Formats: sequence, structure tokens, C-alpha cells
Amino acid sequence: MTELTKQLTKQLILHQNDTVIKDLKADQWFTGRQVSADVTRLRQHFINLKLTKGDLALVCLDNSAVYPVLTQAIWEMGMIEHPVAATTPIAQLQSEFNEHDYAVVIVKHELADQIVNDSVLEKTAIRLETDSNLTVFINTSLVADRMIQNPTEPGEDDLALILNTSGTTGKPKRVGLTHKILNNAAHHDIDSHRLTEDDTTMIIMPMFHINAQVISTLSTRLSGGKIVIAQKFSASRFWQQVSDNHVTWVSVVPTIISILLINDKANLIYSQLRDQINLRFVRSSSFSLPENKFMAFQDQFDTQILEGYGMTETSSQCTLNPFDAQKIGSAGKAFGTDLAILVNGQYETSDTQIGEIVVRGDHVISEYMDPQPASFQDGWFLTGDLGYLDEDGYLFVKGRSKDMINRGGEKVAPAEVQSILSQLPFIEEIAVIGMPDDLYGEAVTAVIKPKDFGGNRDDMRQQLLDYAGYNLAKFEQPTQVYFVDDFPRNPTGKILRPKLKDELLSVSAGK
Ligand code: ATP
Ligand code: MG
Repeated sequence: MTELTKQLTKQLILHQNDTVIKDLKADQWFTGRQVSADVTRLRQHFINLKLTKGDLALVCLDNSAVYPVLTQAIWEMGMIEHPVAATTPIAQLQSEFNEHDYAVVIVKHELADQIVNDSVLEKTAIRLETDSNLTVFINTSLVADRMIQNPTEPGEDDLALILNTSGTTGKPKRVGLTHKILNNAAHHDIDSHRLTEDDTTMIIMPMFHINAQVISTLSTRLSGGKIVIAQKFSASRFWQQVSDNHVTWVSVVPTIISILLINDKANLIYSQLRDQINLRFVRSSSFSLPENKFMAFQDQFDTQILEGYGMTETSSQCTLNPFDAQKIGSAGKAFGTDLAILVNGQYETSDTQIGEIVVRGDHVISEYMDPQPASFQDGWFLTGDLGYLDEDGYLFVKGRSKDMINRGGEKVAPAEVQSILSQLPFIEEIAVIGMPDDLYGEAVTAVIKPKDFGGNRDDMRQQLLDYAGYNLAKFEQPTQVYFVDDFPRNPTGKILRPKLKDELLSVSAGK
């Protein structure tokens, strides 16, 4: 056993009579004993199928109580889980399967009938408490001729999880995380969030992604807390779910905060339940949370927000705004991570200028599965993100180097322009991008999702240009303004800038 699997097992034994996981869709709680029994049953099923250490499992499931069971059974076998979005189209799953040597494929019920049950993929099913009909497809071309052998124990440096990055800047990258890296990452999260067995988290982010996998699920399980799993986020049910299940913290992305702020039902239910709500904090990460949303949420819902910064490659977060010493607009301080800013070839650690954020630590990968250019240097991982550290070591994230706009040689950081323009009251969300321009190469372009889509656009455009005229340097001021009813996004809600650019180009080309 590795430290990771040992501790997962230990917590289930310690809490064998306590409810540890709740599935909101099925409206069912499961005790430590039930979860343990399911893990054992599933592991035995894997052994019967002649699966073994190092086997790859492709997982395409909706959020549900079987997800953590599956993860633990896979890890105890020394197998490697590769979860993908539950929304992944079947053709994409097929090409993923063709590209890599998966020994098993586990898909949600709706897809199980669409997978061709041919001579390669053979369908098997297993009854668990957490899922009455989990379908496990076995790749017979890999395992059929195997002799049944005694399972081999995984080691600390063996891979446990392969996660795709979000694909915000291009094709998603495959990141391999070992047992040791995951264990370290989860413990840093436990420390920074001060998690104890008295905590209950609610998972509303998709469970295939680093955020729900490690920050919410793994750190809670290792600290002996409870997990309440929602299939997805619902603004109208959010506060009721938090109250009914005594939820103490939730990890979200800024979009969820924005939606809760404006959703009438969420506000009404909060006002009815506020005395029964015991949320210690809401954790926000994935992209910058505008300051006005941060203030409004803390005000409107009397709940502390902790902003964190991290990425798939660090298997969790690198920084968190500390409980008692928050700085608004910052992603906080490092917890168990070495953090520096690369400025003019130097690694600076406090009171820096804006440069590339670099990190290293026992939870950071040392290579990609498919090598990426210029990602590692002098023992550091180069994040591709821009930011600075203030004199107290607080990190301020300022967007990505790939997003920088080059306006005739002058560099414009979209995150700066966005944070200023998002103060305008009619803006729900804004993305500032560089669009091709004959004269300057790139033109600073504001793309707006207005609060009132039917509002007068000429007025809004003029107000934006006036406001930019007063508050931004000349070269930073947008010269083009577009309105959209929403942005193209990935499953975690991030704006896909390259796609947005393509869409606007085809609109302006009259396609
Ligand atoms: P890809 O690497 O495929 O382009 P991605 O970087 O969005 O996608 P993730 O690993 O899911 O994939 O996200 C990590 C990135 O999210 C960070 O590198 C950073 O750009 C952004 N991010 C995370 N937290 C914050 C934050 N608090 N503020 C600003 N950006 C953040
Ligand atoms: Mg990335």
C-alpha cells in the first residue's frame, strides 16, 4: 500500500459507522463501512478480470458516489485512472481509446449501450451499493492472454491519475500524477483550508477535473470529513443543499459566484435559511475573481471567500488567501509550494515586478506525459501565467503570457484591462482579447456579456469607451467592442479565448 491508499482505508475504518459520502441525486448517504465494502468488491472484480498494476482505466462518469469508490479501487490495484468530462462525445472517447492502451473503460449508464460490445471491448457489470449497475468494459486484446497473477502493490512513485489540463490555451495536456504527489498535494490543501473531520464539503464542480478530484474529494477524504456530491451546480438549490447537509465549505469558480449573486431564487432561499447555514468559507479558483464580486458575495451572503491559485500540473493549489490575513484581489500566499516570479532571468520572491509565475515543490510534476516546450527550467515549473508578489509574498495573478496583446509593440495585459472595465455596472462578464489589426498588428478588443442583453448597445459602448478613456492608458483602451450572450467555455466554465477569437473573426467576415 502507499501512504495515499493506506490513509484512505484508515479513514474509512475510523468512520465505518459514520456517513462519509452523500449522493444528492440518489438522495442516499453511505457509511465508511459501505464505501469500504464497495471498494473491496470492485477491486475483486478487477482482479477477476485479470487487471493489474500499471493498467490504464478510462473513466467517463457523471458526478456520483461511485466516483470516489472507483478511484480508490483503481489506486489500490496500482492501476491508473484517467477521468474525462462526462460530456465527452462518444467519437472522442473512441479516439482516446485508440490512441492509448486502456485496459478498461468505465462509462456512465447512458453511454454504456452506445459502446460497441465487440471482440475488443467486452462488457461486464458489477452491483455496488453506490451504483447498482456499474459497467466496466474490458479490453480483451490487452488482458485476454494474461495469466491470473497475484496483484502487485503500487509504489509511491507509480502513477495514480492522469488528468487533462483544461485546454484553455490549446490542446489539453496530459498530466501524470503519482501516489506521492497526490498525497502531498492533498495534505497542503488540508493545512491551508484547515480541514478537519468536522468538515463537510459539497462537490458541484465536475469530478474529472483537478479541482473536484484533489482539492475537494481527496483532501476531504484524507482529513476524515464528509463529501456531499451534487451531479452539477444548481443556483436555485445551492443554499438549500448547503443548509440541509450542514456543508462547511465549497470549492467553486468565479462564474458560480456571479450566478449566485444575481439568481433571485438563490437570494430568496438564502434569506430564509441564513441562520441555519454554517459555511466556513467558499473557495474560488480557476480564473481571477473580480474584486466587486468578491465584496458583493461576502456582503450579500455573509460568507468568507478564499481565493486560491493552482493548476493541474501542481496537482492542486499553490497559493491560498489566508483566513485571517486576506488581501483583496490577491490569490494569497504559498502553502507548501516554492513560488517565484521570473523577471529578466532572475527568480524573485518578494516585492517583484510582473513576470512569469514559476513554482516547485513536492506536489509539482517534473515532466509532462507528452513533452511540452519550455516548461521546466532550473528546477522550476514555468506556469505560463503572469503575476507579481508584493512585499509580504502575496501573489497577484495577471493573466497568461499567451493572452498578452501586442499592440504595435506595446504589450497589453488583458487581465488588467478587464479588472478595470468590469467595474462598469452593466457588465456581467468581460474578456479583452487582441483581434487582427492592419495598422497595429493587434487591436485591443472588449467582448462583453451584458447584464441586460436587451439593453441599448450604443449607450453601453459609449460608456465603456468613456470609462476606458479616463481609467486606462491610451494604448490599453479598447478600440473595438463586441457583445455576446455568453462566451465559449470549457466544462469548468473558463472562457476559451482562441475559440472566442475565431467566432468573432467569422462574424466580422460575415460568415
Ligand atoms: P491549458 O493548460 O490546457 O491551457 P488551463 O491552464 O486552464 O488549460 P488548468 O490546469 O485547469 O488548465 O488551470 C490552471 C490555470 O488556471 C492556471 O495556470 C491559471 O492560468 C488559471 N488560474 C487558476 N487559479 C487562478 C486564479 N486564482 N486567478 C487567475 N487564474 C487562475
Ligand atoms: Mg495550463
